Amino acid sequence: MALIVHKYGGTSMGSTERIRNVAKRVAKWARAGHQMVVVPSAMSGETNRLLGLAKELSPAATTPELQRELDMIASTGEQVSVGLLAIALQAEGMPAVSYTGWQVPIETDTAYTKARIQRIDDQRVRADLAAGRVVIITGFQGVDAGSNITTLGRGGSDTSAVAVAAALKADECLIYTDVDGVYTTDPRIVEQARRLHTISFEEMLEMASLGSKVLQIRSVEFAGKYRVPLRVLSSFTPWDIPIDEEASSGTLITFEEDVKMEQAVVSGIAFNRDEAKISLLGVPDKPGIAFSILGPVADANIDVDVIIQNVSHDGKTDFSFTVHRNDYARTMDLLKSVVVPRTGAAEVTGDTRICKVSIVGIGMRSHVGVASRMFQALSDEGINIQMITTSEIKTSVVIDEKYMELAVRALHKAFDLDQPAAA
Ligand code: ADP
Ligand code: ASP
Ligand code: MG
Repeated sequence: MALIVHKYGGTSMGSTERIRNVAKRVAKWARAGHQMVVVPSAMSGETNRLLGLAKELSPAATTPELQRELDMIASTGEQVSVGLLAIALQAEGMPAVSYTGWQVPIETDTAYTKARIQRIDDQRVRADLAAGRVVIITGFQGVDAGSNITTLGRGGSDTSAVAVAAALKADECLIYTDVDGVYTTDPRIVEQARRLHTISFEEMLEMASLGSKVLQIRSVEFAGKYRVPLRVLSSFTPWDIPIDEEASSGTLITFEEDVKMEQAVVSGIAFNRDEAKISLLGVPDKPGIAFSILGPVADANIDVDVIIQNVSHDGKTDFSFTVHRNDYARTMDLLKSVVVPRTGAAEVTGDTRICKVSIVGIGMRSHVGVASRMFQALSDEGINIQMITTSEIKTSVVIDEKYMELAVRALHKAFDLDQPAAA
């Protein structure tokens, strides 16, 4: 007998029919003798709908007071899901009970809309499991020290599930979704994408941080920190397939470096349309200039990603960086009102129609020429690179958004990731 955490995403919970299927699958695992904890997301489209209502009343969500209410609203999608799933399980003859984040409680900090989990009290859950009940806990939400409801950022149910699994020292955390595992790239963009049987934790961390939305980055961080065995698999297989078959399907996130001889140099391609580029032109090039630009940005709690400073001419230089698109307007305002007067920069320009495309692979550590192969593949397609950033196991480029799909396909092919054509 094992303690297993299942997570079901929005599409998997998308209708009462699908919820019934989830219930049948969970009941199958419980009847096989496992203690089951289930963490579902809101029904698909529901979180967008709820946030859309708030936006109708106030388009800019900049104050903490307003963000608090956004969390109050958005968290309700998951409350509906857990109740429905509990009813569906009870209808299957399986004892089940649902809890919201504050009932468990799942304690977080107060960073509304992107709160971090700090502690999970496992007592109530353990008591239910011991009494033979399936425990269903809302994804995405928690509660802060002042009893305010918080949410964990979009896609945050993955993190709830892994954090619950870590707190309960679960034997495995299974992330059920609308694809049957982690692919070499998003299969919606590249038809030839292949499912990976395993992916190393480090690669998964990079893929998630660079835009592969199949797992929220913080869920991967939790899995790494607490060594939670984690698998991504499909919720669309027939619910009654044998458990052994189901348990070995999908993609396993591994913590041991793969000892296979034929380790691919590049394991996957990630992309991200969520960033915007900002440039300060004609900045006096003197010590402390990067700090005088990015200091106020950091003080405003805005994350900066790619940064480039050009060589200077006549004591002046250009300085570019990217931020999340949600922070674009705020950053532009800040630069114009505070940074330009302070630094004497000539001009601020911005571009929201960019994207970042990245290649990821632990094989890059031991191979040279990987980045140049990337640049060649993009040049062959006539795609101009605006910014480049590298680390040990990834290289990212910022390009015009309109070439994103072309770039991803070209790189997928250039690094031999395409599915072998059927014989
Ligand atoms: P859920 O609602 O189950 O959390 P998400 O939409 O958050 O599902 O994540 C699953 C989606 O992630 C897939 O439908 C797929 O389009 C996308 N995706 C992006 N990159 C990848 C990848 N490398 N492998 C698999 N899916 C990916
Ligand atoms: N319902 C939330 C969202 O849409 C959390 C999640 O699905 O993981 O972002
Ligand atoms: Mg998701």
